[in-house]
Amino acid sequence: MKTQQFVVIGLGRFGSSLALELMNLGYEVLGVDRNEEVVDEWSDRLTHAVVADATDEEVLKSLGVRNFDCGIVAIGNDIQMSILSAILLKEIGIKTVVAKAISVLHGRALEKLGVDRVIFPERDMGVRVAHQLVTPNLLDYIELSKEYSIVELRVPGCLDGKNVGDLNPRARFGCSIVAIHRENGVIVAPTAMDHLALDDIMVIIGAKKNIEEFEKVLI
Ligand code: ADP
Repeated sequence: MKTQQFVVIGLGRFGSSLALELMNLGYEVLGVDRNEEVVDEWSDRLTHAVVADATDEEVLKSLGVRNFDCGIVAIGNDIQMSILSAILLKEIGIKTVVAKAISVLHGRALEKLGVDRVIFPERDMGVRVAHQLVTPNLLDYIELSKEYSIVELRVPGCLDGKNVGDLNPRARFGCSIVAIHRENGVIVAPTAMDHLALDDIMVIIGAKKNIEEFEKVLI
């Protein structure tokens, strides 16, 4: 199978970190930035990195951008540049276009242009950190919708040795343990007989208000 190819427009803090992680995951990444110094910094860590203005249609075409599986517009602060490059990536016909927004209105504009996925890194990270601050055992938080989320919670000492049946989160709190992650493996869809050990990581799915109730027993 062909390796998925990504083009990342703008190698600022967000774009470069995303590009590098895609490389670490084994994908091919073309980084594009109009700033030569930025491109020099990243060129030997990405598959290709080029100095180019992503609002220049001819340049994007000559880079063969339409053949990429996914284009990510990682320009945030310059909304005009972000919008113009998003339009071009869509028009050129790249399959999936993802763009970073720095405000609600910027996000709405990107959605109206047909961007497939708009992300709000600062806003989402703020939400995530707030949850981690008030719930010490919370390792990660993913919002599925306004109502539902998935969280990763570390098993505290008070639950060490108990099994899933003792805890019974579905009946008590209306949320489910979908996996237990520990050093030597992952138990997917654990049964009532599976036990919990200190520092295991539980992956929980459910309504946010139910998960919040469940989190209280862990403190
Ligand atoms: P961050 O907050 O993640 O650092 P910025 O919006 O500050 O993001 O950085 C965006 C990057 O995008 C900068 O490196 C900038 O040089 C680059 N950039 C801005 N406009 C263009 C453009 N038209 N074409 C290519 N790169 C651009």
